[in-house]
Amino acid sequence: MKARAAIRPKKALGQHFLVDPNIIKKILAVAAVQKDQTVLEIGPGQGALTRALCEAARQVIAVEIDQTFTPILEALQQQYPHLEVKWEDALTVDYQALPPGTVVVANLPYYLSTPLLCRLLESGLRLARMVLTLQVEVAQRLVAGPGNRDYGSLSVIVQSCAAVERAFSIAPSCFFPRPAVESAVVVISPNPSSMKPQRRQALVHTVKTAFAHRRKTLLNSFREEGWPVEKVVEALQTARIDPMRRAETLSIQEFLALADALFP
Ligand code: SAM
Repeated sequence: MKARAAIRPKKALGQHFLVDPNIIKKILAVAAVQKDQTVLEIGPGQGALTRALCEAARQVIAVEIDQTFTPILEALQQQYPHLEVKWEDALTVDYQALPPGTVVVANLPYYLSTPLLCRLLESGLRLARMVLTLQVEVAQRLVAGPGNRDYGSLSVIVQSCAAVERAFSIAPSCFFPRPAVESAVVVISPNPSSMKPQRRQALVHTVKTAFAHRRKTLLNSFREEGWPVEKVVEALQTARIDPMRRAETLSIQEFLALADALFP
């Protein structure tokens, strides 16, 4: 039977609580947390996932912005002393003390998903994996490859530093209140070797410029964004990319080659 939420959910904080125990089990199975691991949970809310994570992990660090959940989460802490709650904004909290091999598990609000994901990937933390419940639209963008209509800056930026896999979908009826759209669970496994910050910045700049005018050729897109034509032609030649191609056809490797040529 599904439990009903006792707290009035705040729309601005994207509060859609998981109320289906089967989905919680499925998320746990995908997260594959080992007994000696630390879990970072973003947005524990009423603790639906938190309890299950506390059963599975050595240490759980939960970051929650809404102090309405204090009584619920304090009660959980009584039961599970290895649960630490940070009452902070997940976008500004300091993650540097997290041990290597931490698993991130989160059912994220729409507004938080992209900035948080980018922050975690750029943090230099050696995360084992991130198991994120996201709006299906964001999940599709994360896993999309060249030629797919959902392939864009987010796909390239994330796939350049992690393997991304869509695990399963979640119907709106599994949440309270029901979101307007379906959700999906995505597993993001960061590459063991991290990219140098300068190369990463160059890639982000290149990708955003290339996708700034989706319908235009790469050459025109860069020109529209103020790049000198000769410099772009030369870089495309170095990267062995036809200037008449569009951004959506480039592979991750081609974007990296182009970024390296534009920002040697
Ligand atoms: N984990 C719970 C579950 O699955 O039922 C709640 C998920 S709900 C979709 C999102 C949670 O993120 C809420 O508890 C909300 O208060 C919290 N949240 C929203 N913005 C946040 C932020 N900037 N930093 C930390 N937590 C945030």
